Amino acid sequence: MKILFVSSEVSPFAKTGGLADVAGALPKALKKSGHDVRIIMPFYHCVETGGFTIKKARKSFEVPVDGIMRKGLLRQSSLDDIPVYLVENKEYFQRDALYGTPAGDYPDNSERFGFFCQGVVDLLKRLDFRPDIIHCHDWQTALIPYMIRHEHKHDPFFARTALVYTIHNLAYQGLFAREALSSFGLDDTHFTVDRLEYYGKINLMKGGILAADVVNTVSNAYCREIRTEELGCGLQGVLQERAHDLYGILNGIDYQDWNPATDPLIFKNYTSSTLSGKAANKKNLQKALGLEQNPSLPLLGMITRLAAQKGLDLLEALLPKLQKENLQLVLLGTGDEKYMQIFSALREKPSDALSINLTFDLALSHKIYAASDMFLMPSLYEPCGLGQLISFRYGAVPVVRKTGGLADTVFDPKDGVREANGFTFDEYSPEAFWAAISRALETYQNRKKWDKMVRTGMNSDFSWDHSAREYEVLYEKALTKIQV
Ligand code: ADP
Repeated sequence: MKILFVSSEVSPFAKTGGLADVAGALPKALKKSGHDVRIIMPFYHCVETGGFTIKKARKSFEVPVDGIMRKGLLRQSSLDDIPVYLVENKEYFQRDALYGTPAGDYPDNSERFGFFCQGVVDLLKRLDFRPDIIHCHDWQTALIPYMIRHEHKHDPFFARTALVYTIHNLAYQGLFAREALSSFGLDDTHFTVDRLEYYGKINLMKGGILAADVVNTVSNAYCREIRTEELGCGLQGVLQERAHDLYGILNGIDYQDWNPATDPLIFKNYTSSTLSGKAANKKNLQKALGLEQNPSLPLLGMITRLAAQKGLDLLEALLPKLQKENLQLVLLGTGDEKYMQIFSALREKPSDALSINLTFDLALSHKIYAASDMFLMPSLYEPCGLGQLISFRYGAVPVVRKTGGLADTVFDPKDGVREANGFTFDEYSPEAFWAAISRALETYQNRKKWDKMVRTGMNSDFSWDHSAREYEVLYEKALTKIQV
């Protein structure tokens, strides 16, 4: 199959969260199975300065954004052997961040991604690549299936192309004022309830969900949850409408990038049979972050976008209690101003048990996964969650709230499962979170039991091999849809 991946972030070029991991790893797994895969994404400042080999622009295009013809150039790089097309427009993408600052989204995001999506549709015909599948992700690329189905309905170029749309996080829908239609090169006829209109605004994700041939999200549990009022973020009705074409496929992680046996970013490589190497990582990280160098203190790691979704209010409420316990806590995160302020205030008091790192730092993230005994994910909701999968791989035992992908992948000994790999809690409260942590701390004191859980996680398989097969089946389903 010829597959075009369209994503607003792709690891290692640009990353703010799990979407980048998926968009960087799934194409590689599909390529390994013999498909012709290409990726297209914006040419951000961090891509230009990231040390990648970038070929000069070979093609250009012009699309209307708010009535002005905006010019874009197409550059090219590669990910292993996969061509990566990069859409350049300095005004839109030469910025410090991908989507905004801690104070909020860039105010012209409708223009930026309206430009990108129109550009992708325009460029496709000139790429010498007619995809069987166009696979789009999240709100930033939702306009592509929408435009192809509505504006290019009779275009023979797209007649045999199936459109697949993946929801990585339903809470970010691409909501804009009605006037944004002109940023997308669209007129007012698109402002109807069966198209882009949503409570008086434009909702791009809604347009993508309705237009795609098949829709999926990134775990089975989240696939059920998003059709409920509680977690449907207002789109539950639209998703119920598409229930027959809605699937859940669990994300994997890139087992090459995330491999403690070969990882060049950690202090010492190790496997499930050389766990002393993990202890060396803990010791070195304790030293690097100014924590007490004590091998017997459990080290709890948390690496996350600082967003309300991630259960940070639970962590904040528990911090005084955690600081009284014999444990160490390392937080790595960046995001919303509110949490940046809360956690940066905590940094002011020197501590050899608490390390708060408010940046985006890939190398440090690897070191924390390798050093941690436990990994915290008290999420309010979690479409899939990659943190727990990475922590399995690095022998850190996850302590998670039982929601979405976390419920599908983390199994608690209290539930009587043979292959317990972590600790879970149900109720979204500091007390329930604490109960799960304290059970983890208790188990940590029993070396034999603990090491068994560590090894269960390390020996599980959450590579892309399995999930990539499921995407192949999804693509086949999408293709049968356009044949009828
Ligand atoms: P989400 O996609 O909601 O952000 P996931 O758990 O699916 O959450 O994926 C998060 C990914 O981003 C993981 O690879 C995690 O290690 C990484 N990550 C999050 N915050 C940071 C940070 N501040 N520095 C480095 N990596 C981070």
